[in-house]
Amino acid sequence: MSKVQDDNYWRDVLTPAEFHVCREGGTEEPFTGEYWNVYEDGLYRCRCCGEVLFDSDRKFDAHCGWPSFDAVARPGAVKERPDNSLGMLRTEVVCANCGSHLGHVFPDGPTETGLRYCINSLSIKLDIEAKRKKVAQGGKH
Ligand SMILES: [Zn+2]
Repeated sequence: MSKVQDDNYWRDVLTPAEFHVCREGGTEEPFTGEYWNVYEDGLYRCRCCGEVLFDSDRKFDAHCGWPSFDAVARPGAVKERPDNSLGMLRTEVVCANCGSHLGHVFPDGPTETGLRYCINSLSIKLDIEAKRKKVAQGGKH
C-alpha cells in the first residue's frame, strides 16, 4: 500500500470514529475502546496500514482507560512529534509508515523503559494469529 493517502481515501476505508482519531488526531473516550482491558497475546497493527506497532508483551494496565504500552514493537515503528494542543505540552505518536495518529507518549511509565505509550484502541488492531506464528518460528520476525 502506498504510504501517503488522502482524506478521501481514508474516509472510504475507515469508520467515522476511526477517521476522527486516526486522521484528525482525535481521542476516544477512556474506558470505551476495544482494547483498554484486553491482555490477549498478539501483535497490535496500525488500523490504517497494517504495520506492526506494538506487542502485547509490552502492554500494561495504566488505569487510564486506554491501551498502554511501555515500548514499541520495533525501533522506528512510530514517529513522535510535539503536540501543544489543549494547553499541554505532550508528545504525539503517529504511525511511521502512514502517519496515522495513534496517541501520546508520556515519560512516566512504571517499567524500566520509563515510557507510557497511551494509544487509542481505534488506531490499532489486535492480530492474534501473527503472534502465534512469531512464537512458532522461535520468535524470529
Ligand atoms: Zn499506519
